[in-house]
Amino acid sequence: MMINVTRSSMPSMDEYVNEIESVWNSHWLTNMGPKHMKFQTSLKKYLGVENVELFTNGHMALELTLQAMNLQGEVITTPFTFASTTHAIVRNNLTPVFCDIDPVTYTMDVEKLESLITDYTCAIMPVHVYGNICNIEEIERIARKYELKVIYDAAHTFGETYKGKGIGSFGDVSCFSFHATKVFNSIEGGATCYRDKRFGDVLYDLKNFGIHGPEEVEAVGANAKMNEFCAAMGLCNLKHVDEEIEKRKTVAERYREHLEGIEGIQLNVSQKDVKSNYAYFPVLFDEKQFGSSRAEVFDRLAENGISARKYFYPLTNTFSAFHGMYDVRKTPVALHISRRVLTLPLYADLALEDVDRICEIILGCRK
Ligand SMILES: *Cc1c(COP(=O)(O)O)cnc(C)c1O
Repeated sequence: MMINVTRSSMPSMDEYVNEIESVWNSHWLTNMGPKHMKFQTSLKKYLGVENVELFTNGHMALELTLQAMNLQGEVITTPFTFASTTHAIVRNNLTPVFCDIDPVTYTMDVEKLESLITDYTCAIMPVHVYGNICNIEEIERIARKYELKVIYDAAHTFGETYKGKGIGSFGDVSCFSFHATKVFNSIEGGATCYRDKRFGDVLYDLKNFGIHGPEEVEAVGANAKMNEFCAAMGLCNLKHVDEEIEKRKTVAERYREHLEGIEGIQLNVSQKDVKSNYAYFPVLFDEKQFGSSRAEVFDRLAENGISARKYFYPLTNTFSAFHGMYDVRKTPVALHISRRVLTLPLYADLALEDVDRICEIILGCRK
């Protein structure tokens, strides 16, 4: 049996069939039907945010949110993320400016943020990577001082809270992904949480061709509407997500029991004031101290049918798509970490015996 880095959470088939019965009867498959509306309301409550707009996926949430903000110039972000974050900036004809990351939380290093601000900076787009929360207070202070927008890529933080507040309620906006591989999924899906109701109207138009009324097209929008089947899956999975996160916690704790304190291994931080969702289990391997490189551990696991992932390697500022436009030497910490990190399999139903076996293989790589 292969063990993958993740395994999608699913409700029982009966539960899903039950949820889509009304879709079948009504023939209303998409375009903001009853499931879409119900999912939107349920999410607002679960995430503890004022407003939610649903999208086909997390990327379109990010991309159309940037478009809705009508920005120009430079957006400060980090390269230690999934392609989507950087692509959303570039596809909006904005210029990404890469800030290095903190060596402990892997999120934007706020000490280096201010020096990257120029007359052209319009926004900051930090990533709560692996579910680790950015330095929200400091980012907010700097954004206020320079009058910059803050767009959080919150794709990894579903269900998290910071100081008791839903993580989607920080910044001007926060964008979530409900992709099949994430802690919570609607098969594919995404959402933007925002404060200003009028901003919601702009977002809504952009996900529906800019169609504002039956005979009125006000913006050059795209099509990024979440369909009824995805919304129904989201509704079903939402009922189980707390339980799933609890199970993830048990798995993550088992990993810690085996790997904590091992020389040459750095585990992810537990952050104060954060209710974690245990989205990922990243491990850094220091070849000199540990005795094996990340590549050797990766290969050894693969030989045993275990698929760990090098998230996030390569850094987005080294993608061939950008033809060497960005200088990776400006983000040395991100480069260092991307060359040493491995995210281990983590999902709710991963058996603890499998965790034991994975750790045994990893510890067997020591020389
Ligand atoms: C998954 C992810 C996205 C994009 O979400 P999709 O739903 O796959 O489009 C954006 N940013 C980060 C950090 C992600 O991990």
